[in-house]
Amino acid sequence: MSGWSHRHILDLASFSLEDYSSVLELAHRFRSMPVTGARKLPALQGRLVATLFFEPSTRTRSSFELAARRLSADVQSFTPASSSLSKGETLLDTARTYVAMGADVLVVRHSSTSVPEQLACALDRSGERTAVLNGGDGLHSHPSQGLLDLYTLAHHFDPDHPLPEALQDKRIVIVGDVLHSRVARSNLWALTACGADVVLCGPPSLVPQDFVAFVEAPPPGQAHDPVQHRGCVEVVRTLEEALPGADAVMTLRLQKERMHQHLLTDLNRFHRDYGLTHERLKLCGKPVPLLHPGPVNRGVELGGSLLDDHSISLVEEQVRNGIPIRMALLYLMAAVDSSPDPSLAAIG
Ligand code: ASP
Repeated sequence: MSGWSHRHILDLASFSLEDYSSVLELAHRFRSMPVTGARKLPALQGRLVATLFFEPSTRTRSSFELAARRLSADVQSFTPASSSLSKGETLLDTARTYVAMGADVLVVRHSSTSVPEQLACALDRSGERTAVLNGGDGLHSHPSQGLLDLYTLAHHFDPDHPLPEALQDKRIVIVGDVLHSRVARSNLWALTACGADVVLCGPPSLVPQDFVAFVEAPPPGQAHDPVQHRGCVEVVRTLEEALPGADAVMTLRLQKERMHQHLLTDLNRFHRDYGLTHERLKLCGKPVPLLHPGPVNRGVELGGSLLDDHSISLVEEQVRNGIPIRMALLYLMAAVDSSPDPSLAAIG
């Protein structure tokens, strides 16, 4: 944990294997701690976490707010519809308002790529010490989701040691709308860093072939990849090719709000070709877990009965794990500019 150096958390391309270990190890400790009343951890007492969500959210926002409260932080929630944005205030001025109120961390979600990064740069330039945590930006990145998916898989494969090593040499299949998914992009960085091979499955309109090279070079603006050996990425077009030998399957929501062109006209056809069902999963050759970041379009990405089958579906487990993962991120960010809370020792 001592090597943690990220002041802002904007994407996972800049995460080293040690970073993944720090987050997973800490989240695992938080997961087992009591969370109510006076037994909350005082780690972020006196700190202010503001959630600035310019795009709808159910899971991410509530989970960040709960995570912050469980570490005793104060929480301020911003809702665009009832804010001064509707009076013409700029996004940066809105963010600065929360900084002026003393926000230590801004959790920012926006439908446009790189808004959290732009805010982080602007705050750095003006010498503010407020940190920015990306809660999902456009098609680009959703780091906390990538990390909670990683933890959920690691915990499934090795419940006693849910660390990056648990993913080594696993074959993880991601099905569906990869093109519009910031979750898929964050998962690609996280899973390959931990040595998993990722198979992307979908039609060319939703899974362009050039995704095979996605993790081959760091994104523009990042000098080097902190991970030396990554797993491979493969693109296939049918579930019959993708599923045999899979260790876990993740399916993604069809992001209709981001489909500016008519990339997909027939949802029934998508379900017929790529929808996951109990029958389809038999192609894996063994029982495998199913993940979905939510919200789910029942009957499109997967059959409703699969979602409700808790012997296969880890979807609720993903939601539960979101809280300790976000506690870990907030804790680590706070620790960058102060010494870690000794009360953490109490949770083993
Ligand atoms: N909740 C995830 C996101 O914000 C996935 C989705 O919306 O489909 O990206």
